Formats: sequence, structure tokens, C-alpha cells
Amino acid sequence: MHLRSSRFILAVLVLGFALSFAVRGQWPWTRLSDVPTAHPIVVTLPFREVRDTLQRGETVSTLFARQGISGLDLGALARTLQLDPRRFRAGMVFSVRRDVNTDEPTHVEVRASDEQRLRFIRTSSGSWEGEAIPVRWRTDTIRVAGGIETSMYDAVDRGVSAATLDRGERIRMVYDLAEVNEHSVDFSRDPQPGDRFAAVVERMVSEDGEMRFGRILASSLSIAGKDLKAFAFADGGRAAFYDADGKALKRAFLVAPVAFRHISSGFSRARFHPVLGRTRRHEGVDYAANTGTPVRAAGDGIVVRAGRAGGYGNLVEIRHRNGVTTRYGHLSRIASGLRAGVRVSQAQEIGKVGSTGLATGPHLHYEFRIEGVARDPKSIKSDAGAPLARSSMDEFERDRDVLMRLLDRTTLASAR
Ligand SMILES: [Zn+2]
Repeated sequence: MHLRSSRFILAVLVLGFALSFAVRGQWPWTRLSDVPTAHPIVVTLPFREVRDTLQRGETVSTLFARQGISGLDLGALARTLQLDPRRFRAGMVFSVRRDVNTDEPTHVEVRASDEQRLRFIRTSSGSWEGEAIPVRWRTDTIRVAGGIETSMYDAVDRGVSAATLDRGERIRMVYDLAEVNEHSVDFSRDPQPGDRFAAVVERMVSEDGEMRFGRILASSLSIAGKDLKAFAFADGGRAAFYDADGKALKRAFLVAPVAFRHISSGFSRARFHPVLGRTRRHEGVDYAANTGTPVRAAGDGIVVRAGRAGGYGNLVEIRHRNGVTTRYGHLSRIASGLRAGVRVSQAQEIGKVGSTGLATGPHLHYEFRIEGVARDPKSIKSDAGAPLARSSMDEFERDRDVLMRLLDRTTLASAR
């Protein structure tokens, strides 16, 4: 109480001074005019630095010659530093430092990779020495969120600024988000205008200010009328994702047998309409993807056929538990060794996307059948994921609560 009132008095005093300054345009005390002031020290750098970019089709020696660097045998230094000279590619920026008096190059520095910087220093005898310096990266935790208008790509483009993560890294994040939720959401077809996503992710920041997406720690999706939460948790060393109750997100079936990262961005809903079970002519879901894209088994099972099958072209059919069968059509190639009777596990590659049989372009024709009847794989009441062991629950709940607060912006704003 005493502390609080003295803080209040201090605040009133500060405000009073500020007001007095604002009204009279002068400090409420007389300024000393005869305080001796030191002359500013002008710092003269003993060197001058230029940056030069390795051009396409140019060798490092050409760049060195242009900079007047002589006697720097990069080949020999590369051997002692155990680096591959082919790592020097167009676009790499070399910083060349020169002595201001002699204009002689004395230092050359280049970022040779994400993890390494090379520094070459000219010795007094005129020869060059080199050293490899590791680039330091630190990890921070950020929250990203956005609304969906057309696709997940547009959602992250609008929700995550280029200053947070550049486009390539944002896309890597979407791919991981899709993978984390691949047992409940089909990122290529489920998101609708008005849906939302939020995620807490690790981001790596280098000492040069570059940013990389690290990994997803938690996600929250409002997609197709469902609210889905995912929390990373390392149970006995292996990290996996769990819902808020500590049940594994992993289920008996993947929603889509083609990973979202492989779905053609020019996916047309009009041409590949998901007419599941609605018409007699088309009883599956089509995924547009390039020829050669890996096709994964949606769940554990036993192959019942693998080969040519009329309009299906190259077809793989798998029998799973509970009367479920899945079919994968138009494959350009069936995985070697895959034939009737062979056991497959979830996400195992069973073939490649193609356009064999009656197909107008490369795509996967996927059917999910129960007792022979084509069904929407998402309409199936999903089996519950395996729960965490009792002994891990306390730790999980602690981690989950921290992540939940980070996911929830309103909580974040009021957090101290
Ligand atoms: Zn089809």
C-alpha cells in the first residue's frame, strides 16, 4: 500500500513536469548553460568494405580478379577447410574489406551455407589464411493466425507478414500444418471461405537476420465446421501430436493418400468435383498431382489386387479392418513387390500418380468403401486416437496449458 501511493505521487510529479513543459515550452527548471561539452569523436574506419555478388556462369576467381584479390588460392583453402568449391553458387555475396591507405584487400567474407561463414585474411607476408565460422541461429516462438478466403496458401499469405516469415518458409509451415492434421483434415479440399487457423511455431533467426520456419508446437483449426487442436508432446523422446485430452491425432486412416505438399496448386474443383457416392459413374475423390507423385496407403492393410483394371488403369486395392477397402487408380507405376497378399502399413508408398486407364490428365482416383459401398472417408465416425499413458498426463497438461495460452490471442493480450 505504501509503495503504491509513493508510485502514484511519482506519477503525478512526472505528469506535472510534462504539463509545465508542454504549456510554457520550457523545462520547469533552469538549464545550465555553461556545462562543458566534449567534441564528438569522429571515427575513421581504417578500412572500406565493398560487396560483390557472384554472377551466373562466373567463377569465384573471376570475382576475385575483379576485386583485385591476388594470391588467394581458393582451391587449396577449400581443401584445408574441407569444403566443396561447388558450394559457391551464383547469388552469393562476398564482402571484401580493403585498407583505406593502400587499397589492398585484407579480408574476404562469404556466407557459404545456412550454417557457415568463411573468412579469408591476408597475412603480413601477403599469403591468405582461411577459417570457417559457424553461423549462430537462435530459436524463438511466434504465433501466426489467419482467415481463409480461397485456400491455405492465401490464408498464410494474408495472415503472416514477410517480416515474420518469407513466402517459401510460410509454405513450408502450411505443409507441416497439413501433415500434423492429416488424419482429420484434407487441406486441399476442406478449407472454405471463413475458416480460420492459428499456430504456435518455432522460428529460427540467424545472426544475419534470416528467418526460417522451425516446427509446429500447436495448431488450432476451424475448418469445415470442426474445431481441431493439436499439441506437440514428446512422450518418451518421440514427439507426436495430441488433442487437448491427450489423445493421439494419429488415426486408422489418412484423409488424403496424396500429401498436401504434392497436390497441384492449379487444382480445379469444377473439373475434379468430389462427387462421392452421388453418381454411379464416379465413386471416388480425384487428386490432381503431377505424374510420379508418391501415393500412400491410407491405412494399414493387405493388398487384394495390384495391376491393370480397365478404366482404372493401374489399380491398387487394399483391404483394411472393419470391412473397409481403399482403391487407388490411374497409377503410372505400382511400387515394386506390391501384389495381392502383401501387407502394407499406413503412409507406405504404394505407387505413383499417373493417367493410365480412363483419365484426361495425371491424377489419383481414390475410393474409400465400406462393405463395397463407396463412402466419404470423412463421414466415417473416426476411431479415437490412442491416449497418453497416465504417467505422462501431468507433464502433457502443463505443456498444453502453456501452448493453449499462446494459441489464444485474447489470453496472450492479458498475459503478464
Ligand atoms: Zn476419379
